[in-house]
Amino acid sequence: KQMPTIFYKPECISCGECLSVCPVNAIEEKKIRERGKKWEIKEVETICPYCGVGCSAIYKANNKGEIFAVESPSDLGVNKGDLCVKGRFGFDFVRHPDRLKTPLLRTKDGFKPISWSEAYDIIHAKFLEIREKYGPDAIMGLSSARCTNEENYLFQKFMRAAIGTNNVDHCARLCHSSTVTGLKAAFGAGAMTNSIEELDETDLYFVTGSNTTETHPIIGRRIKRNVDRRGAQLIVADPRKIELVKFAKIWLQHRPGTDIALLNGLAHVIYKEGLWDKDFVNERTAGFDEFVRAIEDYTPEKVELITGVKAEQIIEAARLIGRARKATFIYAMGITQHRYGTDAVKAVANLALLTGNVGRRGTGVDPLRGQNNVQGACDLGALPNVFPGYQPVTDPSIRMKFEQEWNVPSLPDKPGIAVSEMAEAVFDGKIKAAYIMGENAALTDAELRKFRQALEKLEFLVVQDIFLSETAQYADIVLPAACSFEKDGTFTNTERRVQRVRKVVDPIGFARPDWVILRDLLQKFGIQANYKHPADVFEEIRRVTPQYRGITYDRLEKGGIQWPCYHEEHPGTPFLYADKFNTPDGKGHFHAVHQIEGYGRDSEYPFILTTGRMRYHYHTGTMSRRTYALNQIVPEGYVEINPSDAASLKIKDGDMVKLISRKGEITAKVKLNDRVPEGVVFSTFHFAEIPVNMLADGENLDPESKIPEFKVIPIRIEPIAS
Ligand code: SF4
Repeated sequence: KQMPTIFYKPECISCGECLSVCPVNAIEEKKIRERGKKWEIKEVETICPYCGVGCSAIYKANNKGEIFAVESPSDLGVNKGDLCVKGRFGFDFVRHPDRLKTPLLRTKDGFKPISWSEAYDIIHAKFLEIREKYGPDAIMGLSSARCTNEENYLFQKFMRAAIGTNNVDHCARLCHSSTVTGLKAAFGAGAMTNSIEELDETDLYFVTGSNTTETHPIIGRRIKRNVDRRGAQLIVADPRKIELVKFAKIWLQHRPGTDIALLNGLAHVIYKEGLWDKDFVNERTAGFDEFVRAIEDYTPEKVELITGVKAEQIIEAARLIGRARKATFIYAMGITQHRYGTDAVKAVANLALLTGNVGRRGTGVDPLRGQNNVQGACDLGALPNVFPGYQPVTDPSIRMKFEQEWNVPSLPDKPGIAVSEMAEAVFDGKIKAAYIMGENAALTDAELRKFRQALEKLEFLVVQDIFLSETAQYADIVLPAACSFEKDGTFTNTERRVQRVRKVVDPIGFARPDWVILRDLLQKFGIQANYKHPADVFEEIRRVTPQYRGITYDRLEKGGIQWPCYHEEHPGTPFLYADKFNTPDGKGHFHAVHQIEGYGRDSEYPFILTTGRMRYHYHTGTMSRRTYALNQIVPEGYVEINPSDAASLKIKDGDMVKLISRKGEITAKVKLNDRVPEGVVFSTFHFAEIPVNMLADGENLDPESKIPEFKVIPIRIEPIAS
């Protein structure tokens, strides 16, 4: 591999990249020495199981079924040789002793192992009993952004065809559901408009609500390189001093929850100074006049009062955006995880439309998806209102298509319940049983105390996972699943690229791939499911999902393909909307959206808790915390507090504190850090012992996407006497 030229002063973040570029082999992975004999080593190309970037790598396993090393050739995948710390070292969990190896049944003395056929019999009998007694809509299913496309497809097929309900959802509800609703309204599809590769052509990145170098490290690295080597410009809008701030020309440090005011303020200046793209707006958009009326009031001075960002900075940033030849708008959950998330997404889309930065290479609106297959889980219909391919369940002709394909007389026509509504529905007596696949909802949902009480109240709960997660501990039946290194299939990454996942080692113990479990259950319920391999499931997906129609396993052998791909000669679509948008009139739609006044302010709870992720861990830590290297770097969770707030509260680094919101309280260790502004507290949700979502409000949801508020949680802090 060619040695990279480093222009900026790097800080070691333990990414392990030096291992792959050291020209004299002065350093190598310790585990390489434990690999076993050369002829016993198996090398398999597959996809990293962590974030939505979807990096490719070659994983090496010995004849004991242990993965011991990773290689990433410079011509491979979207990452072209780069891997972050999780991709390079995050595979020990595969053979961790905590892995579930056999089905479990809850008894009064705890869980006892049972056979697969016993487990299937109990599930079949209990679901039928509950359906008989309360109707099919008394059963809820949560699918998984970590499972393959084939598995998500089969899960929603099971809920719709075997159970007879549209009560199927997954964790995208809690991260990017506002992208799905917001971008669908603006452009016609809720996905990244452009490709990762095109970031190398962008002149200006506007990054907001995304700590990209930690949450999507390989995309973060690409942005840094382009700023450093090519002189691309970067504007960061974030309340926290994230790593990208060091590379930014302008840092807009707005108050948490004031995103719409800031975005409207930027649009106001661009419009007033005539920096908008008149030809693009006139020819390709709708709703412009109403939008202009809506931003009229967002003068830089007024926006400064709301956001705390100086008016001159807003003007300077707006001019950079307005004058850029190719601008890309990158965001993540800092924009979406609000009870106004859909409007915030629309405000980002407004800026792209106003400046004509969509429908061309190197431009676009790029929502970065968090988990490895959250895009695929949405695409394949693990949502309560749509079948695969975002085809509405309310459309009779679409229902008929699926009825014919699945050979069932009828399918439910009423949109189902979202995961964020599940706890309430359990307490209302509407939901009596649930099937949760690969999702740790007992840590990820808002208002966890209530959610956990709801899990306890269920008459029957099946959880299918690779570990006995916090959620699985509430289950009546636990099914041991294979992880992504133990099965075949496909994932769809954040840029809509469908990629092959390949089996590296055999499943541990009696664990089975999720697609096998779902196939068996479908057959048990009398639904046609004669699949011998995930490729057979994919063939069915292609028949019913227009965006995936031209993609085949054979084609994927040569590399990933970006949807939409309508036929087998279609090359896939690196960027969307070149000629027209996917809306009914083919136009990009502006939306008049407004800042909620006084949002997040609270005299009783004077601090704002905002939550996020860190580079070394993933989601609820079930995999990364069972990986030696990652756990060595960050073995425990903490909350970050600004030193000046700590001084006024008489708290020191390492002290334990109580965080109290209207919805609950938790205790956590303090880490002083001036990355967070005064009045703001930051924590990740990776650590079960700091279940920050206990504090989040599960009631006041975004009206369109039903996402709860995770980024602006009013709290108070109480020191715990030592
Ligand atoms: Fe894996 Fe994401 Fe890191 Fe790539 S950036 S190696 S997909 S965790």
